[in-house]
Amino acid sequence: AGKKVVIVGGGPAGATVANYLRMMDMSIEVTLIEADKNYFTCFMSNEVLGGKRSMDGIKQGYMGLEKAGVKVVHDMVTGIDGAKKKVMTKGGQTFEYDRCVVAPGVDFKFDKYDGLDANVAETKIPHAWKAGPQTALLRKQLEEMKDGGTFTMVAPPNPFRCPPGPYERVSLIANYFKKEKPKSKILIIDHKDKFSKQGLFTQAWKKFYGYGTDNSMIEWIKGSDAGQIEGVDVAGMAVKTDFEEYKGDVINFIPAQKAGPIAFAAGLTDASGWCPVDKVTFESKQVPGIHVLGDAAIATKMPKSGYAANSQGKVTAAAIAAALNGKTVGVPSYVNTCYSIAADDWAFSVAAVYKYDKEKDIIAGVKGAGGLSPMDASAEDRKREVAYAHSWYDNICKDIWG
Ligand code: FAD
Repeated sequence: AGKKVVIVGGGPAGATVANYLRMMDMSIEVTLIEADKNYFTCFMSNEVLGGKRSMDGIKQGYMGLEKAGVKVVHDMVTGIDGAKKKVMTKGGQTFEYDRCVVAPGVDFKFDKYDGLDANVAETKIPHAWKAGPQTALLRKQLEEMKDGGTFTMVAPPNPFRCPPGPYERVSLIANYFKKEKPKSKILIIDHKDKFSKQGLFTQAWKKFYGYGTDNSMIEWIKGSDAGQIEGVDVAGMAVKTDFEEYKGDVINFIPAQKAGPIAFAAGLTDASGWCPVDKVTFESKQVPGIHVLGDAAIATKMPKSGYAANSQGKVTAAAIAAALNGKTVGVPSYVNTCYSIAADDWAFSVAAVYKYDKEKDIIAGVKGAGGLSPMDASAEDRKREVAYAHSWYDNICKDIWG
């Protein structure tokens, strides 16, 4: 009989495993269990917030995977029995597996902050760090904000999903304000003292949004100046630190993060709140037979990105296909590129190719095989990177969801 693989989560990580397993070995029965009917990509969701793309423009479905022969089940996984090799769902279904894949993405540490919880995020102070209804809510709040209002963002501490994401978001919202509400301000209260692609973002903010001048649209308060970020005053619409309150007409509080709840329920996390894995097969170090990848996994030094999740998906599919056929898997290489769009015709990227470094137990960048867009690139180059970002989006979605 065909071997069974059950995949929990149909984001970039889980969907890629499903798609590639079907391509690698048609005899394997692949079941993908995903809570939502549609998937809204976080990638390009900052364009939605900046008014450049519709919600439909970030919506992906599961028809392509079904066509590839994946059994797609829409249900919430509530438990996994690693000893009996069974997955249980909220809808009362049970699925047996030979190998299980858990790719639930991130969850939010609301309990670290006063006044913040899932309900506040869904109704009033969205994080919009999982794309979907909160993306639409935050966009609506920005549209309704008066010209001259303040958009206040709390940027999360490391490690978190998409290191350049908060700063791309600020850029595209500034781009929208500049055109539609030019008297408005953006305040970033950061948990950190530095951030991804900081030089390139700062250069773009200076060029387009007056950064560093008295008239700057954007103000960034670094972690050591902000002090302890304690939470929010929901009624007063303010972010509280241990010595200051920062008001916002619209507040986007992006909390500290951890692996999705099912990773905890299945005993896959360690004290860090993330899932330790073998970095060549992505098999859990805690529960044999279960592979964890994407944002939930500890894949040092790959960032938590959609492209990284997709690359890890192919590595995981190859490892599972090999294991189920009694073969040993080859030495993988991994890839990631993250584009950031900072204005209409202005984008830059960071790219890397990786190899596993056994001695250090890290997925290490290959020297000379990547890097950042140069600081002195021409306007034409920056514009070309916008086109690259958009074609990357179309291609990666096709590669993931078919
Ligand atoms: P997720 O995408 O979170 O998918 C997990 C899926 O599992 C979800 O569909 C969820 O519904 C489902 N699920 C969870 N638990 C269960 C359960 N118990 N039962 C059933 N289903 C479950 N990355 C890039 O590469 N490039 C970018 O330009 C980029 N831009 C970004 C911009 C923003 C604003 C943000 C927030 C992120 C961005 N990212 C980008 C990062 C990228 O979105 C994530 O790294 C990626 O989504 C991780 O994929 P994943 O499959 O691990 O998790």
